Amino acid sequence: MMLIPCPHCGPRNENEFTYGGQAQVAYPDDPHALDDAAWARYLFYRDNTKGLFAERWMHATGCGKWFDAVRHTTTYEFHEVRRVGRMLETESTPGKGPHT
Ligand SMILES: [Zn+2]
Repeated sequence: MMLIPCPHCGPRNENEFTYGGQAQVAYPDDPHALDDAAWARYLFYRDNTKGLFAERWMHATGCGKWFDAVRHTTTYEFHEVRRVGRMLETESTPGKGPHT
């Protein structure tokens, strides 16, 4: 069993959390200007990083709040957790990753 450090409640059992996908995916400045392919890229395309990855999690059966985390995708180790709205520095940070 793994403990996930909720930034609001502290370490809790992993089965209390829901995964929310990649963190820090910026909403388009002008979504009406996007064609269907660009809109689909925004909605569905995410990095598939091996290593440190910025993710969004929710403490579903605890405080119910979303937070951002940096987790290593092969070891599952959490390196950093922050309340939503504060930037995380990882390889998957937009503009810093190999796929951006
Ligand atoms: Zn919590």
